[in-house]
Amino acid sequence: MDTVDIAIAGGGMVGLSLAAALHDSGLSVAVISDQPFSREMPPEPALRVSAINGANYSTLSDLGVWQRMPQERVSAYHTMSVWDKDSFGKIHFSKEDLPAPQLGHIIENQLLTNALADTVAQQSHVKLIETRIQKVLSGQRETMLMQENDQVLACRLLVGADGANSFVRRQAQFPLTFKDYGHTAIVATVRTSVPHEQCARQVFTPDGPLALLPLSEPDLVSIVWSQTNEVASSLTGLNDEAFNHALSATSDGVLGVLTVESERHSFPLTMRYARQWAKNGMVIIGDAAHTIHPLAGQGANLGMRDAFALAETLKICVQDDKDFASLENLRAFERARKADAMAVVAAMDGFKTLFAGNHPLKKFVRGAGLVMTDAIPAIKRQWLAQAMGW
Ligand SMILES: Cc1cc2nc3c(=O)[nH]c(=O)nc-3n(C[C@H](O)[C@H](O)[C@H](O)COP(=O)(O)OP(=O)(O)OC[C@H]3O[C@@H](n4cnc5c(N)ncnc54)[C@H](O)[C@@H]3O)c2cc1C
Repeated sequence: MDTVDIAIAGGGMVGLSLAAALHDSGLSVAVISDQPFSREMPPEPALRVSAINGANYSTLSDLGVWQRMPQERVSAYHTMSVWDKDSFGKIHFSKEDLPAPQLGHIIENQLLTNALADTVAQQSHVKLIETRIQKVLSGQRETMLMQENDQVLACRLLVGADGANSFVRRQAQFPLTFKDYGHTAIVATVRTSVPHEQCARQVFTPDGPLALLPLSEPDLVSIVWSQTNEVASSLTGLNDEAFNHALSATSDGVLGVLTVESERHSFPLTMRYARQWAKNGMVIIGDAAHTIHPLAGQGANLGMRDAFALAETLKICVQDDKDFASLENLRAFERARKADAMAVVAAMDGFKTLFAGNHPLKKFVRGAGLVMTDAIPAIKRQWLAQAMGW
């Protein structure tokens, strides 16, 4: 039987970020994933992309992860444009508003996962194990993980970074609050007839937002089109020509004629929030602890913040010779991260509700809100700084 200090369940962006951030902790780490850690990438962009904010970009660069991504496939955006469909409400952000070198980057999730896996594979403190955790047995001093490959791994602390349907969260019996957003997100890669000029755009329609995220080719964007389940299901049923037509019309023609170049995938959207994140020997982070609406591109960013904050907590425990697996020493981490996650969950709910529907008064309020925010530099800077994770 193998023994490590920290076992991380889940080799997604969040679990691997934690492993990378523990490089100087003196702790031995195993990451267990039921998916391959690294995947060969086809030449065309993958469907799942994320907007990574400035704070996480800096940390990933400091860890030497960012540099391992093929830079020709990473797309920095310098401006952001958000508007309310069929209303006067709009707001435009620019890197000069802060100022900052860029407002964020659009990356393919798998490319970042590959770069994280490459980074930790070089580090002697980490073992990467491709198998599924099937059973968890908690003891006084250790937790045993029974794996699908018939091996048993013992650890002092089990970290659940195993996604929205977290097995670890269920084993720990952490209570969960959840709500069906009633929205489905359609994602696809789309060719534009007008260049995107490194601008991330989002239009709010009464049935939900459409994001047009600039990829590294000047006329290619990734769309995240979140609509009520009924509208999304009728959009999914359209042939490519009719879908392209609906897409171009919804985007108000800002990028000209839009043509889908990939398959379309749909994701039902659910808010989840674990009311407990830690107990003796176990803690959860990332989508295992919270899932939110993608309208502000904050889910993975929030999860990475959990990972980097947990790494700091564990390192301090090691330095101070404290038990890093005890609830007593994980409590401050849990409290701080729950508060951050709760604030983001509430903000996403607020945005979704405010921008839903066509009531003239509501349209006036959101139009006035956007225009006023656009006109007041101090408020605009504060919004931007928050979106960038500063
Ligand atoms: C349409 C859409 C658009 C989004 N856009 C953005 C964006 O622009 N910016 C942003 O910040 N976020 C975005 N998000 C959110 C983001 O994708 C997620 O928050 C993020 O991927 C979560 O990462 P994770 O590592 O916590 O979980 P996951 O990526 O789900 O990884 C968990 C891993 O654990 C593995 N696993 C599960 N159970 C076990 C087990 N028992 N044993 C071993 N392994 C196991 C899984 O196979 C998986 O590989 C978006 C989400 C959606 C749906």
